[in-house]
Amino acid sequence: MTGITKPNSKSSNIVEAVQTARDAFNRGVTRPIEWRRKQLNSLLRMYEENRNAMIEALHKDLRRSKMEAVLLEVDYLINDLKNTIHYLDEWSAPEKPPKGIVNILDKVVIYNDPYGVVLVVGAWNYPLQLLLLPMSGAIAAGNTVIVKPSELSVACAQFVAETIPKYLDNEAVIVVEGGPQETTELLKQKFDYIFFTGGTNIGKIVYEAATKNLTPVTLELGGKSPVYIDNTVDIFVTAKRILWGKFINVGQTCIAPDYVLCTKEVQDKFIEAAKKVLKEWYGDEPQKSPDLCRIINSRHFSRLQALVDASRDKIAIGGTYDANDRFIEPTVLSNVTGTDKIMQDEIFGPILPIVTIENAYEAIKFINEREKPLVLYVFSTNDKVVSSLVDNTSSGGMCVNDTVMHMGVETLPFGGVGSSGIGAYHGKATFDTFTHKKSCLIKNFAAIGEKLASGRYPPYSESNLNFLSTLMRKRFGPSLKFVPYVLAFALGAGLSYGIFTWQKMTSEDL
Ligand code: NAD
Repeated sequence: MTGITKPNSKSSNIVEAVQTARDAFNRGVTRPIEWRRKQLNSLLRMYEENRNAMIEALHKDLRRSKMEAVLLEVDYLINDLKNTIHYLDEWSAPEKPPKGIVNILDKVVIYNDPYGVVLVVGAWNYPLQLLLLPMSGAIAAGNTVIVKPSELSVACAQFVAETIPKYLDNEAVIVVEGGPQETTELLKQKFDYIFFTGGTNIGKIVYEAATKNLTPVTLELGGKSPVYIDNTVDIFVTAKRILWGKFINVGQTCIAPDYVLCTKEVQDKFIEAAKKVLKEWYGDEPQKSPDLCRIINSRHFSRLQALVDASRDKIAIGGTYDANDRFIEPTVLSNVTGTDKIMQDEIFGPILPIVTIENAYEAIKFINEREKPLVLYVFSTNDKVVSSLVDNTSSGGMCVNDTVMHMGVETLPFGGVGSSGIGAYHGKATFDTFTHKKSCLIKNFAAIGEKLASGRYPPYSESNLNFLSTLMRKRFGPSLKFVPYVLAFALGAGLSYGIFTWQKMTSEDL
């Protein structure tokens, strides 16, 4: 078995791929930390040696600019991987949690165990980052991995399929190419963990397939991420931050601001600022700007074209498109209502509707009447307003006074809630995602421990019950983990005092 199965491969190839990965895991290939480190370093070399190839593939698929390709995918992957390699020993080491008085003589350990064979299924919008980042986390945690790129980002899928086998262990990391048919075939196999990025509807299919084997999942899904703006903000900076988050990858971003909620007064100011910003960024003919991506394929183009056409009377900015170029102009819609077509599904394109409301209370109500979003954006300098949105809404994450930037904070787990997903990753959370926390109590045969616990054996008695109940009672005193240090300190202090007294006595004798 090589490290790749071809598109439209027969199901036997998929079965063989999963079996190869399982055999490798069962042989213990991926367990040693040194093996993992070697693979991760090789992956880092792959990123560094293929920087241009990655940028080119992203340009081919999405007409992605170099700036967005490097910042949002290539460098993002490199920095995440360097972080994982740096912390690999620390993250994979057994953990020693605090223990109670009952276990004072025992060892209490949490082992960071790999799950086994992991399936990673990627989406097309960030076709490298969303596939390779979880893959590297799965390797770091000691799993073997089947990697399935999205078939829609053709150039990136080809890059992954051709390049991974040159750098990584071909039996432990296997790329399976293909679309729904191959993914369906893959989902019939037994995996120990499934990590899926994509739309909510396909996420449900993946979840259903996973339940058949009780396979744990991470589902990184989408949805409509709202932005609330109040009247306390710097509207020009606010417009820049929202429009940047919306128009990178021309809105084909899971955490792109989907729609804006604000008062009529803020809407007018926002549109005025947005007109200036967009002209400054993309000029009078945005189609000629090298900084705007294209829609991934004609199916998605037609979907977005229909949304623009259905909103003709509400276009405040933009509204043009060109099917031959799969280009849609950055478009802002005003006075949209919750029942409009544009508000029914995730937009996933360069159209930003504004829904007017009266205040933060109405915004909260509007948000809570809909599915839980992947992220909620709030623009306000009023702490009370921010707190009321934090406290009274549920979303995968939040970002205040900016958009998208929260996903760059590696200590913030990234994921959805409700229909926007299950689980989270990034930084250590990625390693933990692919790690089973195996709890272990280790006792010895010392007589004192056996004596103390012997009251648990029959014949049962009231006195033994009382003794054990007292021993086991939950106490919230100082942490016992400092007891050995306190004892060592006391011993040291006692010894010093003894030596000092003895020296004093002998010098007096002289
Ligand atoms: P998608 O759900 O159409 O496809 C995702 C993957 O599922 C692809 O690899 C595809 O081959 C596979 N697939 C498609 N149909 C299938 C089927 N019937 N059975 C089994 N597998 C199938 O998603 P997409 O269009 O690639 O990505 C867009 C969606 O993903 C948006 O909703 C977006 O919000 C979401 N997304 C979420 C995140 C996140 O991190 N939460 C990131 C990117 C995209």
